[in-house]
Amino acid sequence: MAPTGGGGYCPGTGAGDIHPDMATTEHVEGTQSQAAADHARKIVSERGIEFLFAQFVDMHGKPSAKLVPAHHIDDLLTEGAGFAGFAAGDIGQRPHDPDMIAIPDPASLTILPWQPNVARFACDVTVEGEPWPYCPRTILRNALARAQATYGLQPKMGVELEYFVLRRREDGGLEVADERDTLDLPCYDMRALTRNLDFVSQVAKAVTELGWDNYATDHEDANGQFEQNFQYDDVLATCDRAVFFRYMVETLAQQRGLIATFMPKPFAHLTGNGCHFHFSLWRDGENAFERDPGEDPRGLGLSELAYQFIAGLKAHAKAYIAVTAPTVNSYKRLVVGAPASGATWAPAYISYGYNNRTQMLRIPAPGRIEDRTVDGSCNPYLAATAMLAAGLDGIERRLDPGDPNSANLYELPEEMREAQGIELLPANLLDATRELERCSVVREALGKTRDGDYVDYFIKVKRREWQAAHEQITQWELDRYLQLF
Ligand code: GLU
Ligand code: MG
Repeated sequence: MAPTGGGGYCPGTGAGDIHPDMATTEHVEGTQSQAAADHARKIVSERGIEFLFAQFVDMHGKPSAKLVPAHHIDDLLTEGAGFAGFAAGDIGQRPHDPDMIAIPDPASLTILPWQPNVARFACDVTVEGEPWPYCPRTILRNALARAQATYGLQPKMGVELEYFVLRRREDGGLEVADERDTLDLPCYDMRALTRNLDFVSQVAKAVTELGWDNYATDHEDANGQFEQNFQYDDVLATCDRAVFFRYMVETLAQQRGLIATFMPKPFAHLTGNGCHFHFSLWRDGENAFERDPGEDPRGLGLSELAYQFIAGLKAHAKAYIAVTAPTVNSYKRLVVGAPASGATWAPAYISYGYNNRTQMLRIPAPGRIEDRTVDGSCNPYLAATAMLAAGLDGIERRLDPGDPNSANLYELPEEMREAQGIELLPANLLDATRELERCSVVREALGKTRDGDYVDYFIKVKRREWQAAHEQITQWELDRYLQLF
């Protein structure tokens, strides 16, 4: 569920990242980054920070880092930290390649709230002095620079990162950490939230300390599931925060001997983990998606630009979902069937409309679009790049999204859905990669590498993942087929 307009819609103060204004799309090399570097040095010395993480992510959004003593901050900021890229996951490196160098973005300095003598820098990867086109953060920065250069637009984004708190049983299985959290309808359950106050308030306070402004925490729709909201900001800052948030929540849970997971669908009978993106495009400090609902013939408080963006999202959803819902497990979340609580709250159809959680794109308030395809396994940099490209294509081609849909899509009969021309999202990762392969818009946005388009590399990795899962013989298959014939 999303509390008061989930995803946040007041500008974040961003005090925890040292200077959010510098982490924007207008972030240019030179004076500004020099000022950000000076500011980072000042914070590091004033706050007594002893160690710095130089952190980057691979295709899967997995954070990797080196820990550098703070007295080496000057070397770190100018020369970066070196990595054997092939060991770091899917980031386009081979064993014989020269080192990857992670260069900190000084504006991304984030002090670990639970260990304030340590801070992390989000980094962009370079190889032999050149930007590395397989670095997801670099891919997003390029996309943001293009949106600025071509349209004079600055995208902003909020994220709703749902997660489960679990524990490992002695027999190796998994269970909800709070053994009393067993209601069929646990959403917003005050007693469950109270039992978990110690943990969730630790996270909430940490988020506020980071300057991201936690404004709500709730027990979500599944047993053991929570959501903790923070304000929206520039897309790059939000993606850096999403990576840090997952790392932080998992770390704090591990310190208690628990497991926090953002995996899309850990339990078949419960709602999954969404990571809804709330998107808007800004021009000269004004939200270019917003207009007075009274002046919007469709009444949603969206501008023409926003409707075109929606149309672009609809046109490319089948393809970009391979990036926003990028795992085999993702597609087990994107179904209509009722889990224990009665609804999955996840989309299965390509649609938009109103403050209606059965739609793929929800309009929770004037001036922003919530994309509900996105799940907790996404690489936020790549997902935001793909979404932005899809939406901008709608603007480029002045597409019309049609009228918003007000139906309960979970109950719309199949024939009516077809009659209304509402299309299905891909049912699995393989189908999604097939759609992605054909989509020139997302292809172009993800950029080129030394081996061809990044999207082909992404598809290759994802098909391997699909194949590995497909090779499993599950208990369900044995139960169903062993003696059926
Ligand atoms: N957990 C749901 C999902 O997987 C979303 C619930 C909500 O609307 O917050 O997308
Ligand atoms: Mg939610």
